[in-house]
Amino acid sequence: MSDFAAFKTSFKGDIVTPEDPDYEQALTRWAANARRRAAVVAFVRDEEDIALAIKYARSNSLPIAIRGGGHNPAGSSSSEGGLVIDLSRHLASVRVDAEKKLAYADGGALWRTFNNETMKYGLATTGGTVSHTGVGGLTLGGGYGFLTGQHGFAIDNLIEATVIIADGTVLTASLEENTDLFWGLRGGGSNFGVISRFVYKVHPQRETVYSGMAIWPASALEDLIAVSAARFNQPKDPRAMYMLLVALSPDPSHTPCVMLNPFYNGSEAEAREHYKDFFSIGPMIADMSREMPYTAVNTQLDDSLPVGGCYYLKSVYMSTPSNSVAQAVASAVYALSKEYNFKIMFIWEHWNLDKARGVPADAMAFKRPGSSLSCLIVIVYQEDIPEQLALVRTCADKLATIATSAEGDSTSGQVNNGYANYNSDAPTEVLDPNSNEGILSDAKTHALFGDNHTKLAALKQKYDPDLVFNKWYAVKPASAK
Ligand SMILES: Cc1cc2nc3c(=O)[nH]c(=O)nc-3n(C[C@H](O)[C@H](O)[C@H](O)COP(=O)(O)OP(=O)(O)OC[C@H]3O[C@@H](n4cnc5c(N)ncnc54)[C@H](O)[C@@H]3O)c2cc1C
Repeated sequence: MSDFAAFKTSFKGDIVTPEDPDYEQALTRWAANARRRAAVVAFVRDEEDIALAIKYARSNSLPIAIRGGGHNPAGSSSSEGGLVIDLSRHLASVRVDAEKKLAYADGGALWRTFNNETMKYGLATTGGTVSHTGVGGLTLGGGYGFLTGQHGFAIDNLIEATVIIADGTVLTASLEENTDLFWGLRGGGSNFGVISRFVYKVHPQRETVYSGMAIWPASALEDLIAVSAARFNQPKDPRAMYMLLVALSPDPSHTPCVMLNPFYNGSEAEAREHYKDFFSIGPMIADMSREMPYTAVNTQLDDSLPVGGCYYLKSVYMSTPSNSVAQAVASAVYALSKEYNFKIMFIWEHWNLDKARGVPADAMAFKRPGSSLSCLIVIVYQEDIPEQLALVRTCADKLATIATSAEGDSTSGQVNNGYANYNSDAPTEVLDPNSNEGILSDAKTHALFGDNHTKLAALKQKYDPDLVFNKWYAVKPASAK
């Protein structure tokens, strides 16, 4: 029997190769531009399947990618010519132990499934703001969410993970077992193995929350930024967070506008009182904010960001809101959207980070953003061709440069990489631990992991010295040249 036939015989899940009728479907990712033509897609059923797939790929020199929710815009869950360990078909459920206030999420579960299951018991934790995002990639890279003000990052609520490492061994990682591995995977992404199951703390959550979209013409930007600047260094209500966005309106008029996407973990009356400084700014184009079920809050953007479009994401941090920067960003967003017919959004994400700041910087590999203001650039474009991608990149770089223009001396060697999970240009494949190709520069590594990088490199040496897992900001093993 051939190696492949033996693999297929022992494997309990589904193996899909280019000859199979569902091959094209098996490659689907949220971003069409993150699709890659894998040689084998292995829809795993359990830890044994994952170990078999790793062993088969390694003995046949096939690069490995791991797919959770499939949302990464850089293609870090896809592989050109390699083997994809895909958890999204058979390992995508969530189970809740209401008494212990714990949720057990399979490695390929989506946040939609997570929220729907936990809310059956009136429980929730910090998770993705778009319901079709995966639990896996979002958690391993940190995980901002509407509930960050009350419960910290998604990763702050992770208490255990089942990890299949590069030699196929199944390990439990927690604060009691394999503690070094647990430290590394919380922020070190998929550098250490495949996580078949995540265990989270979940917290009592009311049925309804307040959110939605409020829209102003571009002329209101100065007043809206003034309110956000006044709020920025004030003590914050842990139940609140909001985003300010600039974009052209989606209707045929393509009016330059500014949008507020508020969130409040309370009633509409409490929320309107909390946000009255924003709502006193006039005139508004529309106010669609309202009280809604908690399970609906992360579906608000689902339809405008559907699976299968061409998407580019870029992120930077700003130290504080600034009207002059915001005006320059907005003018560029409106002009570039019209010039290239791209749908461009620039989003200032006012997460409430007070709770998350209480976790020490060295508690896990994840580098905390301090009090920085996370900025996200999203560009939706028409065609997955290199010429368009080059234009999109130029637009995103322009916006990032404007946004960071007031952030100090750009010659100091500091890299402003923003949040690691929002990066369409993250390096996604490194095959040789002794090569520098695809490995991050020291400055970028520092921007992503800070002082935790040395410890991460030692862990990579211990758990994955051959860079079997090399698709998401691969860390160079400590002893590599
Ligand atoms: C529309 C949209 C909304 C977003 N909203 C948020 C948000 O609210 N908060 C936030 O923090 N981020 C957000 N993100 C960023 C998001 O965290 C990343 O895109 C993340 O990579 C998505 O995880 P995934 O499992 O869906 O992706 P995938 O593409 O499946 O995986 C991403 C990376 O994680 C690895 N991975 C996934 N699952 C596993 C696993 N089980 N074991 C080991 N490795 C695994 C993959 O190998 C890959 O390297 C958003 C992104 C998009 C596109």
